[in-house]
Amino acid sequence: MTVSRETALQAPVRITAVKVAPLVGDTPKGGWSTEIKPEDSIHALIAVHTDAGVIGHGSVFTNGGLAQAGVKVLEPLWRGENALEPERVSEKMHQNTFWMGRGGTLTHVIGGIDIALWDILGKVTGLPVGRLLGGTYATRVQPYCSLLMDEPGPMQDLVAGFRAQGFRAFKIGWGPFGRRDDTRLDEAIVRAARAGAGDDTKLFVDAGASDCYWPQGLKWAMRTADMLKDYNVGWFEEALRPDAIDDFCHLRRVSPVPIAGGECLTRRQIFLPWLQRGALDIVQPDVTKVGGMSEQRRIAWMADDFGVKYVGHGWNTAVGLAADLQLAAALPNVDLVEYIGGSPYLDGITEQPFRLDAEGRLEIPDQPGLGLRLDRDKLARYTPDPSVLFA
Ligand SMILES: [Mg+2]
Repeated sequence: MTVSRETALQAPVRITAVKVAPLVGDTPKGGWSTEIKPEDSIHALIAVHTDAGVIGHGSVFTNGGLAQAGVKVLEPLWRGENALEPERVSEKMHQNTFWMGRGGTLTHVIGGIDIALWDILGKVTGLPVGRLLGGTYATRVQPYCSLLMDEPGPMQDLVAGFRAQGFRAFKIGWGPFGRRDDTRLDEAIVRAARAGAGDDTKLFVDAGASDCYWPQGLKWAMRTADMLKDYNVGWFEEALRPDAIDDFCHLRRVSPVPIAGGECLTRRQIFLPWLQRGALDIVQPDVTKVGGMSEQRRIAWMADDFGVKYVGHGWNTAVGLAADLQLAAALPNVDLVEYIGGSPYLDGITEQPFRLDAEGRLEIPDQPGLGLRLDRDKLARYTPDPSVLFA
């Protein structure tokens, strides 16, 4: 339902409810040591309902029960608020939950609400969110297909299969890489991926050192970075444990390939020392964890001021990707977004699937809001009650 533009711009549109739809049943593997099961809940969609009948959608990278609890704790702060003021309402929630787990569940959930509020503001004003966030630097962006590492044979076939679907940029990560103490296996996996991808594509490598009990250290990361250069790898991601900022600073200085990270970091303030100290060439905040689009935009601009490249990590759901696409429009020099390969939570919950053009790029939607239409029937396969996401 839409409201008249004039009425909407003059009067507040009040938040009446925030609903959570956990995504379960076909949760993709993460390459984690203790692997994710299909029935595990690690992603949830958020719907912000308003008294104007306009609904906005957001996405949260956390357990559905935590997301529901977070929404309840935050209720006194969002109930009755003006949905047309995303940044103010989100900051109000951040500021008033300072003592209650900031950076954790509440930050994630505020982020999901924030994405939904931007969606609402776009729908009410008739503008794409990217325009509201600052303009249109780009109308297309390249998604890189993110795939789990496997033994070399299957790895090559997997990457080649997604190349055949039209992707021209790939990232391989996690799985056996770095975990078997076998540098020849690590290299064989990367070689196989490069063979499957072809020499005319981008290839990135993610060690996934935020996995539990990550066994490698700085020397492994330095040696591996040298190896990756031989396969024209565009960046080396999470090569070290996520809190090892000193080692990241050193690795960035000596590595022949760019060093990427930051998906585990939340709240804009946490990114400041990583940027000031020169720990990263590429920063990868996750819009579904970090605090939403308001927070992500500020981090991306802060990175830009430090000459650090920003690449969004909202890859896990169609809503997260849609948010990243709008941010890619609203920021200079954003040429990539992450795109999980073969996940129904990204490819199987919208009315229209994302489509690659001949160069393997995605068009950034120019419809109002996030430009995304969720499909109730498709969602019924992955969430117990999809009706909470709709009017
Ligand atoms: Mg990663």
